[in-house]
Amino acid sequence: MSLKGKAAIVTGSTSGIGQGIAEALAAAGADIMLNGFGDAAAIEAQRSALERDHGVKAAYSAADMSKPDQIKAMVADAEKAFGKVDILVNNAGIQTVAAIEEFPDDRWELIQAINLSSNFYAIKAAMPGMKARNWGRIVNIASAHGLVASPYKVAYVAAKHGVVGLTKVVALETAEMNITCNAICPGFVKTPLVEGQIGDQAKANNMSEEQVVKDVILASQPSKRFVGIDELGALTVFLCGEQASSITGTSLSVDGGWTAR
Ligand code: NAD
Repeated sequence: MSLKGKAAIVTGSTSGIGQGIAEALAAAGADIMLNGFGDAAAIEAQRSALERDHGVKAAYSAADMSKPDQIKAMVADAEKAFGKVDILVNNAGIQTVAAIEEFPDDRWELIQAINLSSNFYAIKAAMPGMKARNWGRIVNIASAHGLVASPYKVAYVAAKHGVVGLTKVVALETAEMNITCNAICPGFVKTPLVEGQIGDQAKANNMSEEQVVKDVILASQPSKRFVGIDELGALTVFLCGEQASSITGTSLSVDGGWTAR
């Protein structure tokens, strides 16, 4: 599938799933605005490798997804760099695991801001251009936790359920245009976000990391294997193509059967 001539923003693309999605979109020919935190030299190496390996334009925005003004500036910067934003992948996200009575207030606020509100602000900023060109693809990386819950993840589960709801509204408002908005709901993917949880849970439960992976993390995932980042990249590329024009407002589970239970 070719996305040559399309321009994409992928938030939180300096690591994990977002990095894989940026790579997959670039491999399909799209220009890419990277975003996320990290070491400046590593990010520049990632950006220049996209240009070198795939012959696309690649730019980087350091915008903090908890700050609405910076999100608006990121969209404006992409429109300036590429002339437009055709594809918006809202992927940046963080996690905190704690019982509700101990859940830190500031982490609740930050998780709502990054995991949910940033989707709203980025879509709001990109929508006028998409409507003017009558073409757009919005892919929100929600989670299996956008559809079902687990204990100790109150802020994350609430935010990801919010992403699924936001996705439906945007899809309905744009249904008569060549604009789609979908949520991808991955199960567990082995990225730094999950590696942190493996370490934390091992300490909290006095278990080995191998035991945590098998008995805690993958207990809810019937496939008993992590979802591959490449699988999420391939689905995102498909959703951005013409043959996915009628897929809108939906939540696509990529979770090894987790939510089939
Ligand atoms: P990750 O920690 O590897 O990457 C997160 C990215 O978001 C990084 O690039 C980081 O710099 C960026 N980021 C964090 N805070 C930011 C901020 N304030 N502004 C801008 N960028 C910021 O995590 P991941 O596992 O790749 O997760 C990516 C998305 O996928 C998240 O939304 C997460 O909730 C979702 N997800 C992950 C899994 C999983 O098992 N890993 C499962 C389901 C959903």
